Amino acid sequence: MQYVSTRGKSEAVSFTQAVAAGLAPDGGLYLPQELPDLSGKLAAWEGLSYPELCFEFLKVFATDMDEAVLRRLVEDSYKRFTHPKIAPLVGLSEDLYVLELFHGPTLAFKDFALQLVGNLYEEQISGSGEHINVLGATSGDTGSAAIHGLLGKDGVNIFILYPDGRVSPLQERQMTTTGAANVFPLAITGSFDDAQHIVKELFGDLDLKRQYRLSAINSINLARILAQCVYYFYAYFQLPKERREAVEFIVPTGNFGNILAGWLAKRMGLPAASFRVATNQNDILYRLFTTGLYEVDEVVPSLAPSMDIQVASNFERFLYYLEGRNPEKVRAVMGQFRDSGRYQFENFDPDVFTASRTTDAGIREIIAEVYKKYGYVADPHTACGFVERDPAKTAVVLATAHPAKFPDTITEATGIEPTSLALEELKAKEIVRHELPADIDAVRAFIEEHAQL
Ligand SMILES: *Cc1c(COP(=O)(O)O)cnc(C)c1O
Repeated sequence: MQYVSTRGKSEAVSFTQAVAAGLAPDGGLYLPQELPDLSGKLAAWEGLSYPELCFEFLKVFATDMDEAVLRRLVEDSYKRFTHPKIAPLVGLSEDLYVLELFHGPTLAFKDFALQLVGNLYEEQISGSGEHINVLGATSGDTGSAAIHGLLGKDGVNIFILYPDGRVSPLQERQMTTTGAANVFPLAITGSFDDAQHIVKELFGDLDLKRQYRLSAINSINLARILAQCVYYFYAYFQLPKERREAVEFIVPTGNFGNILAGWLAKRMGLPAASFRVATNQNDILYRLFTTGLYEVDEVVPSLAPSMDIQVASNFERFLYYLEGRNPEKVRAVMGQFRDSGRYQFENFDPDVFTASRTTDAGIREIIAEVYKKYGYVADPHTACGFVERDPAKTAVVLATAHPAKFPDTITEATGIEPTSLALEELKAKEIVRHELPADIDAVRAFIEEHAQL
């Protein structure tokens, strides 16, 4: 199977090439040239374990990989999950279910993709014999999931910049207590924007990029999207048969990666009725899906920080289909949006997406209500998914983070203290971090000293 860029100015590439590249050379995102029809496979996939299902799904796409290798990498990727089902579906009532995606090493759904991406990178490096240095900036979740995807991997060093004092103590512990020699958490004296700016500048230094083989782990990698399709199928198989007819997947959404994966799964044959774009107060996607206007707004920090985004980096993949798979139109829309910060669609077709938004006050209320009504503790991101539901549908809310990652909000809303063994263990571990000024030369010098060559 070949992969094409949404912008149509790069050549089609293989799975392995698309994963290694991340972004296409023309600035677009990779998608399968044709989406396969998997509906005929559903009967055979029923009852498979999570890693088995993941392997069966990915082998349709990773056609340039050896199947035995792919199987090994997939099995390895879900070994560090602590729940035997990996992604258990929990029933709260007859027509309301929660798909728990927080049983991985960093207790957030990003582990599903980044554990696999880490293994794919390591495999590619061992094949080529060349080392890489992964560089990124984080305001919390993505950085720790990337670190846990790559820690201890041969041939990779990972440098993650974060704003000192502005990520939660717990997120900092997840990044700084791994004990892995190839992990370099860099606490920058400055804001997240400063950290991100430094990373962008360093990637712009083409000599540095080439010499150290700098690589990004970002939310637009093809492998991340494909890995995330799997749990939609897995959720479907866990539903009682009489509940599978009209399912709405409700997805706490930021960069549109998670929900896009579900929508692609539907286009490939997963029987699902609709997908709810559930945003927090940073609601660019809610506004798009309710009005057809895609317009940047200022980010206001919320209780669900991993959904605090200005623009949704994976939206371009949906746009590609929205514009009839016409790359010229994609380029026109993205160009106008980049120049003016807005784009008004004529006759916008939301397809099977519905949308809702939840303010911080709403998040607190929902956490309290869900706890009272069902005895279930939802984290602030997941809470955005417990919005008014369509009574004709069975709702599956995707739980994207473990509540123990946000103890203050949970305790305030419910009176209980959420716990997690994994997080308790972190408290005893030694913190190793490197403090640097928000200065590009200082960061460059650090990378030159510690990179793998
Ligand atoms: C990243 C993240 C989200 C948003 O996911 P997208 O794929 O960016 O839409 C939601 N919840 C949590 C906990 C996250 O870490």
